[in-house]
Amino acid sequence: MARQDDQRRDIVALPKAHLHLHFTGSMSLATLHQLARARHMELPDKLAGGAPLDLPYDQRGWNKFQRLYDVARAAVRGESALRTVVDRAAAEDAAEGSRRLELQVDPTSYASSVGGIEEALDIICDEARAASRRHGVQVGIIVAASRVRHPLDARTLARFAARRAGHGAGEVCAFGLNSNERDGHTPEWEVAFRIARRAGLPGVPHGGELLGPDHLEQVVRHLEPARIGHGVRAVEDPALLDSMVARGIAFEVCPASNVQLGVYREVDDVPLLTLLAHGATVALGADDPLLFRSRLADQYRAAREVHFLDDVRLAGLARDSIDASFASDEDKRRWKRDVDDWLAST
Ligand SMILES: [Zn+2]
Repeated sequence: MARQDDQRRDIVALPKAHLHLHFTGSMSLATLHQLARARHMELPDKLAGGAPLDLPYDQRGWNKFQRLYDVARAAVRGESALRTVVDRAAAEDAAEGSRRLELQVDPTSYASSVGGIEEALDIICDEARAASRRHGVQVGIIVAASRVRHPLDARTLARFAARRAGHGAGEVCAFGLNSNERDGHTPEWEVAFRIARRAGLPGVPHGGELLGPDHLEQVVRHLEPARIGHGVRAVEDPALLDSMVARGIAFEVCPASNVQLGVYREVDDVPLLTLLAHGATVALGADDPLLFRSRLADQYRAAREVHFLDDVRLAGLARDSIDASFASDEDKRRWKRDVDDWLAST
């Protein structure tokens, strides 16, 4: 494999948008330690160091992930902690070349420590606005309901999200659905997504990662996503994949997550090239760097090192990520010009 390494451009300097990052999962280990110390909370060894989910293929899985995520989330209590998480997510994304971060949160998880769901959401939006100014990355918020809560709660969340809708920093830009894809009955969230769409909030549910095309087809039919969280297993049904591409649904592809949750054995198996060959718009994302120990730029590095995308195609992925974001058209044009400049640089 003869490659001209010295002519490769700096991945970190490539302007990009980060569209799949969860609130607690966005933290670095240092931030988690800081918040845990403030609460006199002892972290389990598994979480406190190393890569806890970098396990042999047959030992990976969602439940291990969820247990660790729940422990980490217990450290995020109170206004100051919420603000710290947003500030650090913005700073760390900006340091990796991100121009636009769409940070996904279910404010219900943090409500009890700040007096309510809307209180939590307002703190997060306010800090997203301030952190955008401080760090030079535009941070939008995705309000995400959870499959482990009642679908009526999701409707309430959609209404809270609708009141804060907008394209700019500190505004809610989309509505999601997260947690284990195996939980709940997808059609029951249809109304919540309709409420969000009517308020101008596109749907960005998870789907097509842990479960295959049958489940993904339900997500597409009932929730009418503008983007799909993961969606990688659409490749198992090319007709479904083509129909999603034809509908303009973008794919938030998170290779490190797919591997560490046991969906694929190696990054090499993540069907990035198949998605691109079918004309899919792909935005690479880190999902939960706290647990996967792999941040945004690492996903682009994997596309270069493992899938052998050259700089022209990496720039294409970066443009895709910007196009798939919910930023204003003017901001998208500006950032895509920066991508052109990156490609023109030597
Ligand atoms: Zn996710």
